[in-house]
Amino acid sequence: MEQPVSIYIHVPFCRSKCAYCDFYSIANQDFIADYVDLIGHEIRQRRDYLPQGDVCSVYVGGGTPSLLPPEQLQRLLCAVRSEFNLQSDAELTIEANPDDLQPALLGAYRRMGFNRLSIGVQSMDDGELAALGRRHTAQRAVQAVRQAQQAGFGNISIDLIYGLPNSTIDTWRRTLEKALSLDVQHVSCYHLTVEERTRLHQQVQRGTVHVVDEELSVQQFNLLRQLTNQAGFEHYEVSNFALPGMESRHNSGYWLGRPYLGLGPAAHSYNGATRQWNARSLRLWADGLRQQHPAVEQELLTPIDAYNELLLTRLRTKWGVSLSDVERDFGVTMSRHLLQQADPHLRSGALMLFDNDVLLIPPERYFVSDSLLVELFAD
Ligand code: SF4
Repeated sequence: MEQPVSIYIHVPFCRSKCAYCDFYSIANQDFIADYVDLIGHEIRQRRDYLPQGDVCSVYVGGGTPSLLPPEQLQRLLCAVRSEFNLQSDAELTIEANPDDLQPALLGAYRRMGFNRLSIGVQSMDDGELAALGRRHTAQRAVQAVRQAQQAGFGNISIDLIYGLPNSTIDTWRRTLEKALSLDVQHVSCYHLTVEERTRLHQQVQRGTVHVVDEELSVQQFNLLRQLTNQAGFEHYEVSNFALPGMESRHNSGYWLGRPYLGLGPAAHSYNGATRQWNARSLRLWADGLRQQHPAVEQELLTPIDAYNELLLTRLRTKWGVSLSDVERDFGVTMSRHLLQQADPHLRSGALMLFDNDVLLIPPERYFVSDSLLVELFAD
């Protein structure tokens, strides 16, 4: 039976590099027109990686997709539509930076068919935004959300970051209260990670910036859960909160094992049997496509890899892991192994629950679930 598939398009351009960012992007936009042509080539060269199936979600992320002129974005979508059959109600998301969002651009997105907008708000504190190297202010972020709503977007997600240097429980509370007053449908909240290849990492190494301690991180996580819950959001994945029925269809696909094709440099793909990842270099990616030999690396998933990945992705979602699915896909030995490893935590009832064939980590425990997952893995 055919199953739906998803498409991710990575737009690797930014105006400048934010202090904490480890995503692949370059601060040079001269290549945008060529890049869009090359995405067309990539679709034609790699489309057979995906199993047959209609596309239920397209996600244009980055980088900064809102730097693409509307006519280039339109070409990008045309290239997708010419090679794939999109479901009539497909979710089409574009990520945008608040400072790029103007009414004309938002209107163009709507006319192109985008029905979901993901806005990189990050914080509602101008000092924190400046320290992160973001170009917008809190006021601009609020205005961007309002303008998106006026343009007709009824499915808006905002990204926020907690665990920021110099943040307190009060700064985080103010950010959350302001963000949740905006009538958005979805919030993605990530704890700051200091990645090695970033300016922030150098600042931490030099001692000019200090990361928050774990106690404050946990307090901020708990406050996040409390305020989103009061505002009617469900905590459906470790970093994601949605009003009823407004979960991200695209990201849910990653957690539920739906096949997806990732286009653009550094994009990842999955088709049920293998994972692929594109060269993390615009030049290598482009050269590969011009030579009709995409610069892609591939990993064949062993049953153990697939099992561990299932736990890693599912257990930090509201969907959890069905034991009968584990038995069907990996055999009775693995389902017994899982139950055995989970048993001490099920007995204490603190870290895991077993409900109607499904193993779950309660959302309030997501923050401390990494070591638990390692215990459950097979090797
Ligand atoms: S955080 Fe976003 S806008 Fe900033 S450099 Fe990274 S991809 Fe670009």
